[in-house]
Amino acid sequence: MSNEAMSLQDFRGLLEKLRAGIAPREMSDEERVRRAKKAFMQKLNGHRAVDLDSCLQCGMCAEACHFYEATQNETYAPVYKFRLLRRFYRREMSPMRWFYRVFTPDITAEDLQNWQHLVYDACTGCGRCDMICPMGIKISASIRVVRHGLAAAGFVPPEMRVLRNEQRDQNTLFGVGAEQLKALAARLGEQGIDVPLDREQADVMLLTTAVEVLLFPDALAANARILNSAGADWTIQSDAFEATNIGIISGDDPTMKLAIRRIVDKAKACGIKTLLLPESGHAYQTMRWEAATEMNESLSFEIVSMPEFIASEIKANRLNLKRQSNGASVTYHDPCRLSRKGGVTQQPRDVLEALGMEVRETPSNRRENYCCGSGCGEFVMQSSANLRQKAFEIKKGEFEEAGADTVVTGCANCRINLLIGAEKSGWQTPVTSLVETVAANLAD
Ligand code: SF4
Ligand code: SF4
Repeated sequence: MSNEAMSLQDFRGLLEKLRAGIAPREMSDEERVRRAKKAFMQKLNGHRAVDLDSCLQCGMCAEACHFYEATQNETYAPVYKFRLLRRFYRREMSPMRWFYRVFTPDITAEDLQNWQHLVYDACTGCGRCDMICPMGIKISASIRVVRHGLAAAGFVPPEMRVLRNEQRDQNTLFGVGAEQLKALAARLGEQGIDVPLDREQADVMLLTTAVEVLLFPDALAANARILNSAGADWTIQSDAFEATNIGIISGDDPTMKLAIRRIVDKAKACGIKTLLLPESGHAYQTMRWEAATEMNESLSFEIVSMPEFIASEIKANRLNLKRQSNGASVTYHDPCRLSRKGGVTQQPRDVLEALGMEVRETPSNRRENYCCGSGCGEFVMQSSANLRQKAFEIKKGEFEEAGADTVVTGCANCRINLLIGAEKSGWQTPVTSLVETVAANLAD
C-alpha cells in the first residue's frame, strides 16, 4: 500500500530549502559567552559536578562512539566533547576553582563555535559511551548540557533553528500541521482505514510525526490498522499529534516544554489512559522519561511505545496475525532511545518472532547497539552528512554480518539515515518499519 509518500529525494530537497537563506544569529561575542555560562550554571547540578570531577581522562569511552570509531579523530571521543563544560566547571564552580583558575583558560565565543560541530554534528546523544565509562559517568548528559549552553549562545545549527522556530510559533514541522494530517486521514478513510480524528474522549491517544505524514504515511496507516484490529478506543488529535520535539533535540528548554505541554494538556482533556508513541526514539525519551519532570506534575496516563503496545496485544490475544512460513529472516535495529535509554529490547523481537520470522542479531545489539548515526535530529543538518555516512558504514558492516533478508527498525529517524546511507553506498537490503511489518501480516 502506498499513501502518496514524498520520495526520499524530495524530502532531501525540502531539507535543502530549509537551509537556503537562513541568516546567522546576530549576537556579540560577550553576550554569547555570558548566555552560555548562565545556561551551564543552571544545568550543572550535583550529579554533573560529581561526573566532571570523577573523569580520569582515561579515554576508554572513545571506542564506544561510532563517530570516533569511524574516523579515529580524537576530538570525536566522548570525553573531548564535554571538555569545554569541564573547563567551565573547574574555573567557575568547583570547590577548587581558586586553584584551577590559575591555569584554566576562560571559555570564549570561538570555543563555543568550535564545539557546535562536536556536540551537534558529532554527537547523537545515543548514550553508548555512558555504558563503558569505568567511573559510571553519564557522559551524554554532560554533552547535552553543552548543547544547552550553545543553544543559549545562539549556536543551534541553522536548519534546527528554523524547525525549532516553526514548532514553537506555528505548531507545525516541515509545514505539516492539522490540515495535512486531516488530508492524510481522509485519504486513509477512502482506503477503508478509519483514523478517528479529534474525538473528545478516548482511552488511547496516538501521536505521529510530520516525517511520517510526509515520508512514511504507511506507518501511520499501519498504526491505525493495528489499533483498529485490536479494538482499541483511540483518537489522534490534529492540534496535538506531533511527537517530534525540536526543543529537546536543539537544547532549547522553552520550546521543549511548550511541545510537551501541548500533548499533555490535550491528553488530559481527552481523559486518556494511554499515550501511544509512534516510531520515534527521541519521542520515547521525551515523553516517557522527561515529560512529568519537565511539567512538574505526575501524569494521569501511561506512556507506551508501539513495540510495547503490539507485544502486549499479541500476548493478550487481541491481535490476529498471520505467521510466515517462508523462512524470512530479519535484523532488528534497536533505536538508542528505545533500547539503551528505554529498555524496550525484547518486545520488538517477540513481535517479529510471533510473525514467524527468524531474528538475526548484529554483533552489537539491544542496549549495546551502535547508533544509526543520525539520532537527535542529525538528518536535518547538512554539516553532519559525511559523519553520518561514515557511521552508517559501521551499521552496514554489522547488518551484512547478520545476513538477514530485511532490516526492521522502530524509529523513523533511524530509518531515514539507514535509507540515505543505503542509497549513497548502493546497499540493497530493504529497510522497513516494525509497525508496517506487523500491519502487513494482520489476519483480516
Ligand atoms: S571513560 Fe569515563 S573516566 Fe574515562 S575519559 Fe571517558 S568519561 Fe572520563
Ligand atoms: S552519546 Fe553517543 S554519539 Fe555522543 S559521544 Fe557518546 S557514544 Fe558518541
